[in-house]
Amino acid sequence: MAIRYNVSMLLREGIGATRDYEVADRVLIDEDEPRHEEVIGRAALLRTEQGVLVTAHLQGVQREPCSRCLQGMETSLRLKIEEEFIVSANAEADAGVSPPEDTEAFRIDARHILDLEEAVRQHWAAAVPIQPLCRSDCRGLCPRCGHNLNQSACSCPPEEDERWSALHQLAGNIERS
Ligand SMILES: [Zn+2]
Ligand SMILES: [Zn+2]
Repeated sequence: MAIRYNVSMLLREGIGATRDYEVADRVLIDEDEPRHEEVIGRAALLRTEQGVLVTAHLQGVQREPCSRCLQGMETSLRLKIEEEFIVSANAEADAGVSPPEDTEAFRIDARHILDLEEAVRQHWAAAVPIQPLCRSDCRGLCPRCGHNLNQSACSCPPEEDERWSALHQLAGNIERS
């Protein structure tokens, strides 16, 4: 279910040692509204001085409604993850090295498990469009009857934009004063 690697062997090897993994896992994408999505791709692990550098090229599909017409749609996402995972304090204490202060850093836990899931979640969140559109010229829904204007026009009369008429009124008032 999760993208976890036991890196104890890799850590015992010297700096520069590598591992390559194929990724095909389901990842918890949204913790508030629990939702799992499949990510596929490759992850390369490189032993560094402080831990393990992960370089992963992953793909996934975001499913959410178009922000204008509310039709279900899919957006394919490409995630390029490049994060260094630091050996955790406990493991470092064993080796007699003081842990780095950076609390934001991803960690390899004391059992030498490198968990890529949180990094995938963060990169996924950064990759999804803020206002997804089913197509760039989506016409959206009629504000009066809710008809999907991509399918056909509706029979509502053309609407005068109230914001503009308010502005015209304001302009008139200013001229008269
Ligand atoms: Zn749309
Ligand atoms: Zn309408």
